Amino acid sequence: MAVPWQQALEQLRRRYGRAPEPRGATALERALVVIAQRQSAASAAQLIEQLRRADLLDLHALAETSAAELAELLPGAARGKLARRLGDFARSVVDESAGSLEEFFALETTALRGRLQRIAGLGPETIELLLLVAGGRPVVPISTACHRVGVRHGWLTPGEDRETLRAELASPGLESADDCYQFHAWLQRVGQEFCRAEPLCGECPLRDLLPAGGPWELE
Ligand code: SF4
Repeated sequence: MAVPWQQALEQLRRRYGRAPEPRGATALERALVVIAQRQSAASAAQLIEQLRRADLLDLHALAETSAAELAELLPGAARGKLARRLGDFARSVVDESAGSLEEFFALETTALRGRLQRIAGLGPETIELLLLVAGGRPVVPISTACHRVGVRHGWLTPGEDRETLRAELASPGLESADDCYQFHAWLQRVGQEFCRAEPLCGECPLRDLLPAGGPWELE
């Protein structure tokens, strides 16, 4: 079926307005925040400030810093893994494009995904979010909320592999990276407020787009 992504985006905009911008003032800051999975404004700002104070908002410096040194700067039980992930990302950009994030994100999309998949700890949703907010690519991350809303509306088929879901999201698709980001951000909110384990369709901004018989089963 033709998926009314644009119509869904318009319904979300009508209800919520414009989504807050992604965390981070530069592509590098946005990439590091996504890799570190800092979702709140405060934790994202804290990460950026910690790296800035240590002169590590620079891919070459980050690539040359050991995981142990980097872990010293970061809070939390998972800081060792996080330090390795940030360092591996920086080394990928340095190796692939001499440290130019712009050139790195200009790589052909399949090659870029392949490069990012080699970084331990970067899952498919995080990679798509990186492509979107740091690379400016018009892709929609397949989050739990996105999958759940898509299946309940009959736009996505449960059990399909990620490549097929990605193809469904890409065609006809939302055209600009900004539209994709707005859609992703508001779907997260719909997932929290309405499209839970038991859907609360009555007040949901997407209720006009439900199939005639109501939401489809997830499985
Ligand atoms: S209308 Fe119902 S099924 Fe659709 S997104 Fe909202 S809560 Fe989920």
